[in-house]
Amino acid sequence: MERPVLPEWSGDKLRYVGPLQTCWKLGYTFSHRRQPAEDYYSASISARVSLQDGETAPARFHFGSEREAAESVKAMAVELGADDVGVTLVDPYYVYEGEEVEHRYAVVMAFEMDYETIKDVPWETNWEWLRVYDQASRTAVALAERIRGMGYPARAHTLRGEQLAMIPHAYAAGLGELGKHGSLINRRLGSMFRLAVVTTDLPMAPDTPRDEGIDDFCSKCQMCTQFCPGEAIAPEKQDVRGVMKWVVETEKCAPYWASYEACGICLQVCPWNAGALGGVWKRMYMDAVHREKPADLVAKLQGGVQKAWSLIERPTAAG
Ligand code: SF4
Ligand code: SF4
Repeated sequence: MERPVLPEWSGDKLRYVGPLQTCWKLGYTFSHRRQPAEDYYSASISARVSLQDGETAPARFHFGSEREAAESVKAMAVELGADDVGVTLVDPYYVYEGEEVEHRYAVVMAFEMDYETIKDVPWETNWEWLRVYDQASRTAVALAERIRGMGYPARAHTLRGEQLAMIPHAYAAGLGELGKHGSLINRRLGSMFRLAVVTTDLPMAPDTPRDEGIDDFCSKCQMCTQFCPGEAIAPEKQDVRGVMKWVVETEKCAPYWASYEACGICLQVCPWNAGALGGVWKRMYMDAVHREKPADLVAKLQGGVQKAWSLIERPTAAG
């Protein structure tokens, strides 16, 4: 299926928009020194798309309760390689236009990225996220197969072939809160993770969104706002289709995302990320942000950021 580019929403239907498509639409070409590992992981992910769905076993296993079913499936997901798991109901609002998800439940899984690699923005970033999506698709395909083996239909949704937006489902399943930099923040994994989903009709008790103080923390912290070279991250929440949310302005992010290997400085400096600013800063920063002005903190922590991103030239769109 040919996927459309902007706008993201068509009426009340969600359209899939890839970041590369967004850059092209805005006139920027993604410049990137492709590495052999990327081709390997990319091919591996694509080869698994045909395995996302399959036959359901005729005999059905019955759990003692929906809670027990949820806990069992989560344990399976962890055993198969997920770093965090939650269960929620499939939300038709976040199913992509032209797709149909018949299942009622969604098992959402998070897979940790290596901060030590990501912080070397920009050169290593691409193969690291592809490596993690490869792991995510392997786990999701295996989990869907296990659930089908228990007599319930199940389908894996991974990078490529996904029928629904994963981030809103991850939020609903309690995997994190939306950070000011536009990525989900999980208390343990920070925003150093990627997602995969398995939808199924196996009845499970759903989780609920967590409030762990992350949204509140973002309202005080200004790290990503201060360091974003494109000034794309709004310092205050804005009204998005009737909901007050943190907003990243795509038009301002795109030139840097396209020209600097998917940029990611906002992830690099976010104190929730495990090793951010050398690791030792994390706790200190978390405590200090409640005491000091964000601008003072930025000045103190400047040395921990690898590149003087604020000094780079603003890329210009082709044509
Ligand atoms: S990716 Fe870079 S330009 Fe885009 S929001 Fe993050 S820091 Fe800003
Ligand atoms: S850098 Fe600070 S404001 Fe930005 S997402 Fe992380 S915690 Fe929130």
